[in-house]
Amino acid sequence: MALIGGPSLTSGKNFDEGGMSRQKIKPGTLRRILPYAVRYRKQLAVLVLASIACGAITAASPLMLKFMIDDGIMPKKFEIVVMLAFGIVLLALMESFVLYIEARCSGKIGEGLVYDLRTEVFEHVQRQPLAFFSRVQTGALVSRLNTDIAGTRQAITSLLTQAVSALLTLAIVISTMIYLSWEITLVALAMVPLFLFPARIIGRKLQRLTRERMNLDGEMGSMMSERFNVSGAELAKLYGRPASEAALFEEKAGRVRDITALNVVHGRMFFIVITVLTSMTTAIVYGFGGNLVIGGALQIGTLVAMVTLLFRMYGPINQLSGLQIQVLTVLVSFDRIFEVLDLKPLVDEKPDAHELVFIGKGVDAGAGGLDVEFDHVSFRYPTAEEVSLASLEPIALREKDRGDSAWILKELSFTAPAGKLTALVGPSGAGKTTITQLVPRLYEATSGTVRVGGHDVRDVTLQSLSDTVGVVSQETHMFHDTIRANLLYARPEAIEEELIDACKAALIWDSISALPNGLDTVVGERGHRLSGGEKQRIALVRLLLKSPPVVVLDEATAHLDSESEASIQRALKDALAGRTSLVIAHRLSTIREADQILVVQAGRICERGTHEELLAQGGQYASLYHTQFAEEVTEIDIQRSA
Ligand code: ADP
Repeated sequence: MALIGGPSLTSGKNFDEGGMSRQKIKPGTLRRILPYAVRYRKQLAVLVLASIACGAITAASPLMLKFMIDDGIMPKKFEIVVMLAFGIVLLALMESFVLYIEARCSGKIGEGLVYDLRTEVFEHVQRQPLAFFSRVQTGALVSRLNTDIAGTRQAITSLLTQAVSALLTLAIVISTMIYLSWEITLVALAMVPLFLFPARIIGRKLQRLTRERMNLDGEMGSMMSERFNVSGAELAKLYGRPASEAALFEEKAGRVRDITALNVVHGRMFFIVITVLTSMTTAIVYGFGGNLVIGGALQIGTLVAMVTLLFRMYGPINQLSGLQIQVLTVLVSFDRIFEVLDLKPLVDEKPDAHELVFIGKGVDAGAGGLDVEFDHVSFRYPTAEEVSLASLEPIALREKDRGDSAWILKELSFTAPAGKLTALVGPSGAGKTTITQLVPRLYEATSGTVRVGGHDVRDVTLQSLSDTVGVVSQETHMFHDTIRANLLYARPEAIEEELIDACKAALIWDSISALPNGLDTVVGERGHRLSGGEKQRIALVRLLLKSPPVVVLDEATAHLDSESEASIQRALKDALAGRTSLVIAHRLSTIREADQILVVQAGRICERGTHEELLAQGGQYASLYHTQFAEEVTEIDIQRSA
């Protein structure tokens, strides 16, 4: 699949911060939610039934009250009073049971939905091309996914329950009221707009504030996740920034504090207004109904029941009036999740992809190995628009990346022969790392073909490709977990003995076994508790465990003491023996041993041959050799003469 012409998420423009309140819901969002809901149709059916029962009970107890007063208390029939009193208690018990069922169902559906979306999104984001991760602001993405996914839970737990039960309750309550006294019902309904008005005004304000707070929460989350890791903290300390960082954070936190305080005030105000209005309407209904009772047109019990019903009518009306805003908010959350799910994984597997087979596994597998071949390969990094969520990029960055990005590799052709060591050398920025990233398909050639063992890497399964190609980069990433878990990541099925053997071969077993918990020692974030040399050896252990026939390696440039340097080199040499290796060489010793040297310059291979051949040519390589390796050469000479 071509990188160019990938998905462009211009529609994401709707999601720039601050513009959130004006967000438009994409057409079809509702239709896409449906399949998620259908999975829970059984629970949904029970939920609707429970809501109907709830509505019926809500209307029934005021009715019982009416009969108690009119048919029991007024005519002084004690047994009827007692019977109805029991009836009211029974109803309350039934109501609590139904509410329990409702809570269970909505919880199940809500949490199920969160589970479904969460796992789907995780799996999907994981399959995004590397370019996506180099662009996206992780903190913002994670906080956004968390907030939005949690937001969808509301769709079921409160919205659906509320909407269904409010509508049903309202229908049942109003019919009962009309049945009891249509005059009072009319008066009560006439006052409904009074209730809706403050809900509208304050509701809108609250919504705006809530959105601003959500944005600020996202910003704070992103700020924390960027600062609260070893590298971020180190940078802040080294540049003496903690005070100004704190000030920036305080500003955001302060705004959240103000907004939340304002929220409370508005909520309180709303409550006060509603209380006053409720007393007012109660007074009016009692006045109007009292007059009817005095005139003999209405029974006293009916009036009491009407007032009770009145309270039960305004509740659902308020709920329904706020519903539109809530539905909109939830739809926005769904929309934003779908936006992430719509990102196409750029490096995708063909439906008819086949296995890339190689013979034998184990430390001495791959004798004979597999060729790695670049056939007229050109490459440019995808632009922001092609790979990322435009909404998560600062606008300035987005604008900058509108045009085409520059060609990094131009019509590159070479073969790294099976079982041989091919060294890539060249000035920084020439494209060496990019070349190595195309072999395991971390990125995909824009044009031309990359082949491993004669197979186009686009035609084989991703799993078999990653089994075949082992990569050791300069930076060894370690998860915050035990050393064992970090090693087993390379081959989960490896047994203890294999682990230890690999550690020994990488000359790190002595250091690991000296740790208090040995292999079960937890390494700090990004393995910062291990030294640079140790991390390189961990990478080597991973390579040995995986034992791939093709190895892509970015030789470490970090300076180690000469002893560990020499031992790592030795271990590495053993590990690479018999495998096809493509090495970005920073060391003279590696280059001298290489079967083939490719000199990369500005995305092209300008010279190729062995060390001696290239030196004799007196071209780019020769001058590179004299500048880059002059120091090493003199060092070696000094050692030799000593
Ligand atoms: P080398 O390994 O030879 O130093 P690289 O392959 O790392 O060179 O880089 C080649 C060019 O590609 C450089 O100009 C660099 O700025 C650019 N580049 C590297 N990574 C990316 C990326 N993720 N997005 C855009 N450009 C990149």
